[in-house]
Formats: sequence, structure tokens, C-alpha cells
Amino acid sequence: MLPVCNTQAALTSCPTPEKAVDQLVMSATTPASGRVYLVGAGPGDPALLTLRAVECLAEANLVIYDRLVPQELLRYAPKARTLGVADLPEPHADRHPRVCELMIEAARRGETVVRLKGGDPWIFGRGGEEAAALKAAGIEYEVVPGVTAALAAATASGIPLTERNLASSVTLVTGHECPGKTPTVDWASLARLPGTLAIYMGLSRLPEIFATLITHGKPAACPAACVEWAGTNRQRTVVGTLSDLPERVRVAGLSGPVIILIGHVVALRDQLQWFERRPLFGVSVIVTRPRHQAAEMIRRFEQLGARVFHQPVVEIGPPPDPTAVDAALDRLHEFDWLVFTSANGVSAFLDRLLQRGQDLRRLGGLRLAAIGSQTAAALERYHLRPDYTPEEFTSESLASGLVAHVRQKRVLLARADRGRETLLETLRELCSVQQVAAYSQRDVESLEPHVAEILRSQEAIVVTLTSSNIARGFLRMIGPELRAAVGKRIHLASISPVTSAAIREAGCPVSAEAKKYTSEGLIEAVVEWAATSSP
Ligand code: SAH
Repeated sequence: MLPVCNTQAALTSCPTPEKAVDQLVMSATTPASGRVYLVGAGPGDPALLTLRAVECLAEANLVIYDRLVPQELLRYAPKARTLGVADLPEPHADRHPRVCELMIEAARRGETVVRLKGGDPWIFGRGGEEAAALKAAGIEYEVVPGVTAALAAATASGIPLTERNLASSVTLVTGHECPGKTPTVDWASLARLPGTLAIYMGLSRLPEIFATLITHGKPAACPAACVEWAGTNRQRTVVGTLSDLPERVRVAGLSGPVIILIGHVVALRDQLQWFERRPLFGVSVIVTRPRHQAAEMIRRFEQLGARVFHQPVVEIGPPPDPTAVDAALDRLHEFDWLVFTSANGVSAFLDRLLQRGQDLRRLGGLRLAAIGSQTAAALERYHLRPDYTPEEFTSESLASGLVAHVRQKRVLLARADRGRETLLETLRELCSVQQVAAYSQRDVESLEPHVAEILRSQEAIVVTLTSSNIARGFLRMIGPELRAAVGKRIHLASISPVTSAAIREAGCPVSAEAKKYTSEGLIEAVVEWAATSSP
């Protein structure tokens, strides 16, 4: 246990920085063996993490993250235990010294700790105090900068912080000083400064701050903006002047983290905004693909500006009977065609082949068929190309297209343990077909809490359904009450007519249907739907 007394005293009572460091240096004890990375997480979009941040997360055994850091960034730390500062016991004032203690204890045990902080660790993040505590305890540390909220707010709202003719300086300032401390922000000087002001933690004192600036001579007509959840797909920007912005913000109901930007540069937004003009900005989307297959689709939706939630409906597992897969692999030479009806089938079957110490030459005598472009892409990852892929990516097309090739031949279908039997039934008439369940599908029982919350809220949301199985599973999972909101507030986007039919059979309307039966086709259908309706 570290000598907490000094750290606590130094970190809770807001002493001068020199005094805090002195007190902490005095508490230095045993040398450390692990290390701590104080990492800036940026505004929340994983794409705005630095490469160094990703490297540190990959190395971490323990990640301690702040309230504003989105949990999805934790996926870059696959081997770490994770701890949210907000989950530490109250009161809030005790949390900061406790965080320092935890980092120091872990580093002394030889662990690699990432202290993940919103934005940049050394801008209004108390990162300096944490580094001082580490220094005092003799723990090795590295600080990794992050995109601070003011930069994210400026770029994503289309308001450059400096501009040759409008602002030659920018000042980052806090709107909330440590309680009990003599205020040090010189609002009178700031009111006279001609450049841009970027105010952190100022939302609750917005009317007061603006009144002070006006009293000290800043023109009431000076343009100003509030950017909430800057740089994320839930960003909201409210623009006005020093005199009317507080009321506009009240009416808009901003309540999340906000950066206030003040200065003539705010006027450039009309011309320069881009982030909020992306095709799916303001649209909430639920992706229902299984966990390991969802990442690409989520990323595409995010790039288009959507706020994305993930709700897997089925999860992929090992085959129900692994010996049946092994038996099929042993008898590959007895077949002419190997047919895959999903990307999962490809990876499950071929991974098993490789795991057994064999290689792809085992497939040498076989012709390969894939149901669609994603299954073909999965084969491509093993340096294989299908001999047949239908024009339309459905079991019916695969079956009717294969008819010409497989007459009198021996066909092996590698598939899931459940699903449609169309292919088997059609081919059985023409040739000898066997099928093997290369993987299993399990229904997910209940909604993720944050997905249940958004579905029950008054917000409009689009649910993307990528197979009939998933569509049925999702509609069963949400229950009758939410099913009644489908077509009104909850809009279903389907990947193909077969999936749409399953949705309609369950008594629900389809809002959008992909023209091309792939994830990309589905994303295009959602973009088109969003452009013509107002979600
Ligand atoms: N170290 C952080 C700031 C922490 S102080 C950084 O460098 O960004 C917390 C304040 O930062 C919030 O009250 C808000 O003013 C601002 N902030 C953090 N994230 C924000 C976001 N995504 N959008 C707008 N403001 C944000």
C-alpha cells in the first residue's frame, strides 16, 4: 500500500502545483518495476486515437479510464483488466487519490497500466498531478498526447480556431475552477483579447461567463457556439452571439460535455461545416450481425456519420459435432464440389483443416462455390477463389446456378447447424449431396442494456437485419411492445427479399431493402432511406 496520506492531501485540496509536487516527491518510496502510460483518448472516436495510444493499450494489463472515455476504446486493450473511475466508490473527491494509488500498486506488482483520459491528459485533465504522484512513488511513466476537446469541437463544427484575417490567437480556458480556490481566470483580459476563446467545463455557468465578458467590453454581438459531444456522432452545435447563445442552448437542452467557442471564426461554420453534413449524421443505427463479424459494418456506418449500436442476435460457436467435421475433412477426396453458404462456414471449416496440421492442397481436387461476395471474400483470405458464385446472393440462386455444374457429381455443403434447407433440397434431386455443420448458431437471449434503452427512448432508429434468421431472432427478442413501434419509430432495413419476407411474416413492415444483397448494399439502402425520409 502506498503512503496515501501525502497523495491524498496534495490531490484533494487544490494546493499550488509546486506545493503538490513537493509533497508528492517527499512520499517517494520503493522503486517500481512496472510502468504507467498516461494516455490521451481524444474525443471518443477510435479513429482519433494516436498510434502510440493503441500500442500502449495493446500492452496494458490494467486500464483505468475516465467517465468521458467511451468503453469501445477498451477493445484495443484485449489483455487488460479495466476499471472505470466512475465506478470507484463516492465521494468524487476521494477517487483521484485512489486512482493514483491503484496505478502505483499495479506498477509495483510489475504491471503495465494505461491511465486513459478523455482528450489530452494534460489539458484540464489533472494528468500533471497524476504524473507527479507517479514520479513521487518512483514509477516510470510516459505521457501520450490526445486530441483535446477544443480541437475536436473546432474541426467537427467547421469552426477553425485561428484564421489569418479573423483570429491570430486561441486561448483554452476553464469555466469551472477548483471549488474553494481563489479564481485565477482573468475574464477582464480575456474580454479584451481579440483571438478565439475555447472554454471547457463552462456549460453550467454559461449565462454568467457571457455576462462577465460583455461587462468587460466584449461586444454582445460577438459570435459564439456551443459544441456538445464534439467529434462524436451524437454531436450537437448551437450557434449564436454572446447575448443570445445562453437562451438558445437552454432551448436546445444541451446537457452533455460542451466546448464553448467565442470569436469571429464562428461565422465560418456556415461555409466550412462538413461533419454534420455526412449522409447518416443524426441517424441511429443498430447492427445485428454476430460479434466477430460486425466491426466492418459498424465502422462504415460510423464513417457515414451514424450513431451505431451493436446488438448481436445470434452468436457463432463451435460445431455441434466436431467429429462430423473431421470425418468430412478426411473424406474431401470423395467430393467434386465444396459449397459454402456463409463466410462463417468458410472460416470454421478451413480453420479446422489447418488446425489438424493439414494445408489447402487437401482442396486441390475440389471445385468451390460461394453463395455471395462476402463468402467469396472469406475464401480469398485463404488465397482461394470460388469456381461459382451466383449473380444474386440467395440460396435459391446458388441452387439454380449450381444445377448446371453438379449434375451426377458429389457435393459437400459446409454450413451452420441450422438454417434454410433450400439448397440441400434442390440439389438432392440431381446429385449426391452431403452436408456438414461446420459451426453452430446460438440465439442471444436478451437485449444489451444500452440498446434496450435507445429502443425504448423516443428516438428514431434504424435496425439493419442481415438474414431471415437474424430478423426473426431480433423481432422475437424485442417483444410485442417494441414490435408495435416498428414502422413508426423503429425502422427495419433488410438485406434481401428473403429477409424482408421473414420480417413481414412476423407482422412487421420493412422500411428499406438492399438492392444488392450484401452489407454494402444494405448500407446504401439505409443512406437512400435517410435521404428521403426524416428519421
Ligand atoms: N482532458 C480533456 C478535458 C477534460 S475537462 C480534454 O483534453 O479534452 C472536461 C471538459 O472537457 C468537459 O466539461 C467539456 O467542456 C470538455 N469536453 C470533453 N470531451 C468533450 C466532447 N466530446 N465534446 C465537448 N466537450 C468536451
